[in-house]
Formats: sequence, C-alpha cells, structure tokens
Amino acid sequence: NVSKEQSPAVSNIVRKKLGGFVGFANLPNQVHRKSVRKGFSFTCMVVGESGLGKSTLVNTLFETSLYQPKTLPELGSELSSTVGIENISADIEENGVRLKLTVVDTPGFGDFINNDSSWDPIVTSIESRFDQYLEQENRVNRAKLNDNRVNACIYFIQPTGHSLRQVDIEFMRRLHTKVNLIPVIAKSDTLSEEEVDSFKRRILADIEYHKIEIFKAPAYEMEDDETIQENSEIESKIPFAIVGSTQTIQTGDGRSVRGRSYPWGVVEVDNEEHCDFTKLRQMMIRTHMEELKENTGILYENYRSEKMLAMGVQQDATVFKEVNPTAKAVEEKTLHDAKLSKMEAEMKLVFQQKVQEKEAKLRQSEEELYARHREMKESLEKQRGELDDKRRRLESGRPLTPERGGGGAQSTQKKSRGFLRS
Ligand code: GDP
Repeated sequence: NVSKEQSPAVSNIVRKKLGGFVGFANLPNQVHRKSVRKGFSFTCMVVGESGLGKSTLVNTLFETSLYQPKTLPELGSELSSTVGIENISADIEENGVRLKLTVVDTPGFGDFINNDSSWDPIVTSIESRFDQYLEQENRVNRAKLNDNRVNACIYFIQPTGHSLRQVDIEFMRRLHTKVNLIPVIAKSDTLSEEEVDSFKRRILADIEYHKIEIFKAPAYEMEDDETIQENSEIESKIPFAIVGSTQTIQTGDGRSVRGRSYPWGVVEVDNEEHCDFTKLRQMMIRTHMEELKENTGILYENYRSEKMLAMGVQQDATVFKEVNPTAKAVEEKTLHDAKLSKMEAEMKLVFQQKVQEKEAKLRQSEEELYARHREMKESLEKQRGELDDKRRRLESGRPLTPERGGGGAQSTQKKSRGFLRS
C-alpha cells in the first residue's frame, strides 16, 4: 500500500528553527520580479446585445480607450446576420507592471429576431482556443506556448428587472463548463435599488435552478480574515449591477468623478453606493485575475480529457501504481505464453488449410485421370470392334468398302497409336 509506505516519511518532518537568515524567504520576491519582467496577459470576452454598454465597460475597467466610439451603420445598409468574433489587444502598463490585455468581442449576439444557436460561434471560438493550446502542448518544442484561452467571459444581462431570458439561460448553460462566467446587470442605473435587489435574487435563482456554475471568488482557509471578508463582500454582489462611463463629471459638492449625469443627479461609477462596478473590478483585476487564469487551466484540463476520451485515449491508472516486479514478470510471461499459443493456433490453421487445398487438387487430378482412362478404353474397344468386323469380312471373302481400302486397318492402328501417344 503506497500511502502506508509513505506515511513514515511524512511523519519524519521535523519543525526546526533556523539559526540565521538562509534566504529562501525571498522566494516570493524572486517570483514577483520574474513575473514583472515577463509581463502578464489576460483575455476577456464580452457577450451581450449591442447597446448594453460592453465597450463602455471595458474602457471603464481598464481606464483606456481600447474601444473607439462606435459609428452607427448607415440607414439602409445591410447588417451582418451572424455573430462575429473580434479581438482587440493592447499592452497596458501600471507602476512598471505590463499587462497584455485582449478583449474578445462578439458583435451580433442576441441582436436577431431568432437568436437560436447564436452561441455556437462563441462556443466554437472558445474551443478552438483550447485546441490551439492543446496542439502547442503536443509539439516537440513547447518552450513558448502562445496562450489565447479566454480567462473570463462577462455576460451582459438586459436590465429588464424581470428574470433571465431564454437566450441568457441557453448561453450560460452551454458556456459555463468552458469559461469563467461573470454575469453582470448592464446599465443598472436604469433600475431602482429595490428593482436591482429583486432582479439579482431572481437571476441567482434561475442560475441555481439550471445548475449553471458562475465564477465566484474562492475563499481559502489559509487566508486572513480581511481577505475572507473582502471575498464574501464580492460574492454578495454577484451578479454585479454595473454602470459604465469614461466621462469625468463635476458633482454638486465639487468632486470630479467618473459617472453619468442626469437632471436629478450624478451616478458615480466608482461609488459603491451607486453600483457594483468597483467590486467587479476588484474581483477581475485587483484580487482574482490569477485565480481566473488558474481556473481557466482547470476548465481546459476538463475539455482536454473529454476530448482525449472521445478520441479513445484512456489514461492508464496503473501507471501511477507502484509495480511489483514478481507480479510484473508473471504478467509478462502470461502475456508471452498467450502470444505464443495464439501464434501456434494460427499456424495450425494455415497448415490445415494448405493440406485441405492439396487434397482437393489431388482428388481433382485423380478424377481427371479416371475420366481419361475411361475415354481411352472406350475408344480402344470401339477400334477393336471395327477391326474384328474387318477381319470377319476378309475371312468371309467379302471385299472391303473402297473408302475403308486396304490400308484401313493400318490407318486405324496408326490413329490408335497416335491417340495412345497423346
Ligand atoms: P455596446 O454596443 O454593448 O458596446 O454598447 P456601448 O458601450 O457602445 O454603449 C451603448 C450606449 O449606452 C452608449 O450611448 C453609452 O454611453 C451607453 N451606456 C454605456 N454604459 C451605460 C450605463 O451603464 N448606463 C447607461 N444608462 N448607459 C450606458
């Protein structure tokens, strides 16, 4: 038993106090420096009908004008009838830390009269990114893997105040096993506080009913109370009710804020009293970006093993077991013997087949010989009859018929000799 054999080794660990500074306490700093040098990357997908504020939110989240202001299609121009997949990448930097940010937009999703299967191009895009990664992993040279996998998918829910629509449920049901889903209530400034609360409750009930797994900030036992508190506060806000705006506005009390100005006041994007934008940003960027990436790895592994299983590759669990040499030798011998007897049986079968074929051939030539013999005998008897007839004619003094002339018997003899020779 492996675990039993390992247990003494585990119990041998002795806690020691170090006499001086060794230096491995510096390991986190080494990792930190290396990561900063290498830079980070993050791929985020945004899904929702057009006009729900996707581009505004991305610009607000990363404080960049990643998306240029959209130009409306001209009246009468033909609109696309399919969901597109568009990548926008930018290298952004904050305090010397570089982040390669890629936003995957899905223009057209939910914009049609019939939105059945509008999730298909999105599922295909996510899977093909997994496939690309898998293909790179299987290469001989895997020194540098290009990772395009989607780390998070912000799903924009229309601020209807009712509950999830069929298209929302269908989309999330298909995507939740392939991507970290972050549902958000778009343009939440269009709903009152109570409406947002009851809408959130209904959305969560729908999500639970349909067994949809959304990304939640995980809480670890080792973490300090403050972090646990922070995480539970983040979780309590899911699905985040957000407001997006990149505009800076002066408030009545003289502050400059990012927000949206209305005749009755200003909605502040970064004010937790007004919306959950800061909580979304905290989770996605400040505290759980690495968690999202790690979880992407888990989703990828699930996808990978499912794909391998579908291809008929099964992980050999015995590889991980400790191998008993005697048992292995016995197993090998049994396998060898089985192989030998199989070969012997096959050879026997081939031999039998060959013998049968030979016998059949011999039988056939024997029959042919008999037939020939019979034929020859009949023809000789016929000739003898003819000769007897001639002899009788000669003896009785009757002349032979002209065509059978004097050489008749001779020619018959010749013929018969010729026949015998052949
Ligand atoms: P997209 O098509 O989903 O990318 O939507 P846009 O970001 O282009 O936004 C469409 C319109 O909605 C623009 O006029 C935005 O100013 C506005 N908008 C964006 N976010 C919000 C929001 O949180 N609240 C409100 N009321 N309007 C918003």
